[in-house]
Amino acid sequence: WYRATVLRLDQGGSDRQYLLSFRDLTEAHRLERMRSDFIANASHELRTPLASLSGFIETLRGPARNDAVARDNFLEIMQKQAERMARLIDDLLSLSRIEMKAHIAVKDQVDLTTVLNHVVDTLRPLATHLDIEIERHIDPGPVMVLGDRDELTQVFQNLLENACKYGQSGKKVVVELKNNGEGIKATVQDFGPGIPEEHIPRLTERFYRVNIETSRAQKGTGLGLAIVKHILTRHRARLVVRSRVGEGSSFTVAFGPQKAKA
Ligand code: ADP
Repeated sequence: WYRATVLRLDQGGSDRQYLLSFRDLTEAHRLERMRSDFIANASHELRTPLASLSGFIETLRGPARNDAVARDNFLEIMQKQAERMARLIDDLLSLSRIEMKAHIAVKDQVDLTTVLNHVVDTLRPLATHLDIEIERHIDPGPVMVLGDRDELTQVFQNLLENACKYGQSGKKVVVELKNNGEGIKATVQDFGPGIPEEHIPRLTERFYRVNIETSRAQKGTGLGLAIVKHILTRHRARLVVRSRVGEGSSFTVAFGPQKAKA
């Protein structure tokens, strides 16, 4: 898409001069499209649990009015739907907060070993509940990066939570931090079912889920990796995803060169 503008430069004489300028609208159109797709998806995701809640309310006021067993059953489902809406709204707010900060440079020195150890400790109960053992390969001693501590905590929390949710019960998940000649790299690896190759480039799109049923069952909103991508862009860090179906997946955050301490 281009927008063409024609400007007449001559003063009305016989030699006509025009200035023709083109503006590339492809990018603007793409962004506009993405914005409206996002709003449509978000509305759909919020409407689904809301529609289900309305349906149950109607049933509880009508046919199931005097059925105690159905009432308990329905109330439990309704609570889950309400929790799902709350999770969606929390994730949408996180995403919008991060987007607002996208152009503000990160400026704090953050120790990644502390962040990773904290995240492992926070998610250990979930892992234990799923019969997954979290193995740490984190050397003692600080590994400093320029960043925002809360945002980096959220990145590793989302990656480790996914590794547990989509990993395999009875198997381990490995959290590794490397700081060598190749730079600083933090990896979360699982030995779950893996992700078919064609899905990998789209994982960080908002609301993209490889398997909607599994993701829903795992209380997923489809926004976790979009949040990760936005935070990492602000940190000038890359997300490298490797996965093999039947073997597992690894998500590596690769930080750019860090300025030496003054
Ligand atoms: P969700 O909230 O659904 O977990 P994410 O954005 O965190 O959303 O992840 C997007 C999708 O990527 C998930 O729904 C899941 O299908 C897939 N996925 C993410 N991490 C893994 C993993 N470690 N193993 C297998 N699939 C994964």
